[in-house]
Amino acid sequence: MSEKENCQPENKPSSDALNSLLDQLMASKNILSELLINSEKVNNDFLLLVQEKRRMAIEHGIVKVAETLTLLAHGAKQCITARHRFKNLAMLDVESILFAGEAVPEEYYSCVFLDGNIMFGHDYIGFCCVPHTSPDKGNVTIGPFSGGDIPLDLVFSTRAKLRLDNNRPGCDTRCTGCPFLTKKNWRKKFAFDRLVLAHIALCNLRCSYCGVPTSSPQTYDVMPILNYLDKHGFLANDTYVEMAGGEPGLFKEFEEIMQFILKRKMFVQMASNATIYSESVKAALTEDRLTLCTSIDSGSRESFKRIRGKDLYDQVWENLGRYAAVNKRRVEPKYIIMDENSGEPELLGFVEKCVEKGMAHFVISRDVRKYRNSTLVENAFPEQLLNAVIFLAHEAAIRGLAFHFSHFTDKEMIKVRVEVIRKLMNKDLVRYQDLIKKIMEEIK
Ligand code: SF4
Ligand code: SF4
Repeated sequence: MSEKENCQPENKPSSDALNSLLDQLMASKNILSELLINSEKVNNDFLLLVQEKRRMAIEHGIVKVAETLTLLAHGAKQCITARHRFKNLAMLDVESILFAGEAVPEEYYSCVFLDGNIMFGHDYIGFCCVPHTSPDKGNVTIGPFSGGDIPLDLVFSTRAKLRLDNNRPGCDTRCTGCPFLTKKNWRKKFAFDRLVLAHIALCNLRCSYCGVPTSSPQTYDVMPILNYLDKHGFLANDTYVEMAGGEPGLFKEFEEIMQFILKRKMFVQMASNATIYSESVKAALTEDRLTLCTSIDSGSRESFKRIRGKDLYDQVWENLGRYAAVNKRRVEPKYIIMDENSGEPELLGFVEKCVEKGMAHFVISRDVRKYRNSTLVENAFPEQLLNAVIFLAHEAAIRGLAFHFSHFTDKEMIKVRVEVIRKLMNKDLVRYQDLIKKIMEEIK
């Protein structure tokens, strides 16, 4: 303890007075979030004040108060230093004090979602919707949320606690066992560089496999939150935005969100049913800032209507064709293989429509609600459906269409590719040798 700290002030404030001071400080919301949000107010005067109060708390032996003020002083110092180095980045260092009250280590276990993502769900906010290993793992939520002010204090403290636990040897968390959890330098300049906007459950289709409660009314507005995060320097300029739902085109704020994204040069991954043509989507495709993924799951109007609940097959393809004319690399029709659409005529109908509408590639997926796992965990996928995938992939390959997989295991993907090669070789080795070579390279 320094000589100064040993000095007794002449008019010692009572512990009650100090406690009430701290209560006031805490009641002003949450000290740390106040610090984050009003970081411009964190100056040397503020630091001196906190240090003085801390000294008084130590003198009075009020340990809890002293500890909190130590944390606060540390954060304030970091804020001031950081501000000299970067504009708007003070909060990062403040957040770092939540890592066991110490500076964040150079390398630690985390993932892109925990250390950068915020997900707006229908009635909650969270970090990820990644399932892994067992039902009590993954899908990391922060808490219920139905609009209004974003509870940044809760977001940061939940993130810090989980991050800390993930780095404690032997500590079992929702992330334990997740393949995304890796050790590296996760420190970033901004609190968020990923956003998932899946807050609206509205949709104009009724797909047989849909897991979204599409009959719910629109829940909350997200633009005030985005503007707030942007204004206070929490969002990276190159934030990666995922839009899903529901049908994003039906979001009341859809145009506003798209303008926000386009203006800030962000990148969007949009899951949309493409029933509504949007000039903003076209503009984002033109700027190469959007990838559009649209499930078709059928090769005819009839099965589209049966599986997706409305007779909009032609309209969807018409819109996808217009989008692909602008940037076909970023338009991804999707085929979710199911019992009801795995017949050859359906699969052929889909591939031919892809060619007719100028697609460069498509995505083959599985019904994750029925065959639960994602690529993270192996599980049984019926042989006849895998054969349908092989048929679809082969028909695509001979037409020069690329295909990608979603929610398949490595083993399944390799099997499909090997079988496609086998079929190509049986057909005409010379004609397809370049294609075979390319698929072989993908397998490697
Ligand atoms: S469960 Fe996996 S993806 Fe989700 S936050 Fe944890 S490590 Fe990241
Ligand atoms: S388009 Fe998507 S949100 Fe709409 S019903 Fe189909 S699966 Fe559900």
